[in-house]
Amino acid sequence: MAQAQLVDTAGLRTDFSLLIEGESVGAQDTLDVINPATGKVFARCPAAGRADLDRAVAAARRAFPAWSALSFQERTLFIKQMAAILRTNAPELAELLTREQGKPLQQSVDEINRAASQSEGMTQIVISSETITDDAERRIELRYVPLGVAGIITPWNAPINLAAGPLVSALYTGNTVVLKPSPYTPLSTLKIGELIRDVFPRGVVNIVAGGDALGQWMTEHPGIDKISFTGSVATGKKVMASCASTLKRVTLELGGNDAAIVLDDVDPKVVAPKLFFAGFVNSGQVCMAVKRIYAHEKIYDALCTALAEEARKWIVGDGFDPATKLGPIQNRMQYDKVVDLINDTKRNGARVLAGGEIPQTPGYFINPTLVTDVAENSRIVREEQFGPIVPVLKFTDVEDALRRANDTRYGLSGSVWSRDPERAAAIAARLEVGTAWVNQHRATAANVPFGGAKESGMGRVYADIGLKSYMEPRVISVLKQPV
Ligand code: NAD
Repeated sequence: MAQAQLVDTAGLRTDFSLLIEGESVGAQDTLDVINPATGKVFARCPAAGRADLDRAVAAARRAFPAWSALSFQERTLFIKQMAAILRTNAPELAELLTREQGKPLQQSVDEINRAASQSEGMTQIVISSETITDDAERRIELRYVPLGVAGIITPWNAPINLAAGPLVSALYTGNTVVLKPSPYTPLSTLKIGELIRDVFPRGVVNIVAGGDALGQWMTEHPGIDKISFTGSVATGKKVMASCASTLKRVTLELGGNDAAIVLDDVDPKVVAPKLFFAGFVNSGQVCMAVKRIYAHEKIYDALCTALAEEARKWIVGDGFDPATKLGPIQNRMQYDKVVDLINDTKRNGARVLAGGEIPQTPGYFINPTLVTDVAENSRIVREEQFGPIVPVLKFTDVEDALRRANDTRYGLSGSVWSRDPERAAAIAARLEVGTAWVNQHRATAANVPFGGAKESGMGRVYADIGLKSYMEPRVISVLKQPV
């Protein structure tokens, strides 16, 4: 059972611990966690130092031989228990997730349930060895063996969902794990550690909270064989450079600047709510959010009107208020960045279709903002906003829209919208991205690979290809000739 909620003399929640070698432990240092709806510290948790990390890695290494010797079916039983625990404890976990992350409570519940179903979904994927040749002379087999200890580093926008993907990929394929959540949102991940402490054999799953330096120590650590990193492009580059010193395997799930191309034949009133959701849910703090809308000139005015109407329906507020559809920006740094971007966009003559003003209330709230008449080389078009502001850009010729959509170092995903799905599919296939959707955006599943092209990442999560990135291919080549 989870520890009861504890409050210290300053009124902060303190019932959090690291998970190292099957034990809930504290640490010398602590981390303060802020509720973004108030801007105030509400909890304090242990922050792992180097020695804590060393113990976690050593525990994971010790646990590896026995865990990797289990079959996929045996490991699946453990993962299913974890999924069941997530579902049973969804209300308690969602409360904590909303408190630290800000998203509306129902969306926190959805995130936890999705983590459970994606976890189960991954255990449906069969990884088998392949026979390359088997004739009278020789047999050549390709097998996949687990790498060892996987270090998992996650961001603050969807901490549970983004931990579950790499965690289950690593565990299912026979690796043991050291997982580090973002210092902005460590609590729900630590709480899950406490809840699954007695499910997995000691040392198979270790969870250590801490600052950015802890992430760097993980990338340098000689006892870690693979890093799964989800976060910004800038940090992803540092992670890859650091992993080079030990030639760790690396999966990078980084930022995006997804374009949605809306063709001339759509009904703007039907498309607008879907586009708005894809751009603004979680206050735009989604790697694969729609971050640029390219609208054909024929439907451009009607689409702008319909999007602005939609914006007025999305109430911004505390995630615990049932009326709230958009919570605050998760942290002060990101809030300042988005406010600066909105001001820069307005200063440069953009027409504001909705929002644009910053509420002067405590907490990091920003109203959903739609802008148009912005230059293609403006910051709002070139940069990843990762917040509730989206530009609508006009096009006449589809080739021009494609060129502009592809004119970026990002390449996470994108979408094309049309009354004719096959016409849209032919255009979508030319987006330089990891995932190109038609008449939808942000649809992922455990059996479909997801990841970024260009600077949006390296490798894929989910599906056979994602799971195999936690394994080393090993060729067994047998010459059938006695010697
Ligand atoms: P971030 O890069 O600042 O931090 C991510 C994690 O890395 C945190 O746990 C942080 O403590 C750790 N970290 C920081 N410096 C490190 C270092 N030098 N070495 C190792 N670890 C280090 O990212 P963020 O601000 O938390 O997240 C937002 C970004 O994540 C956005 O760009 C978003 O698009 C991206 N993202 C991508 C995906 C995806 O699947 N592609 C999903 C969610 C978020």
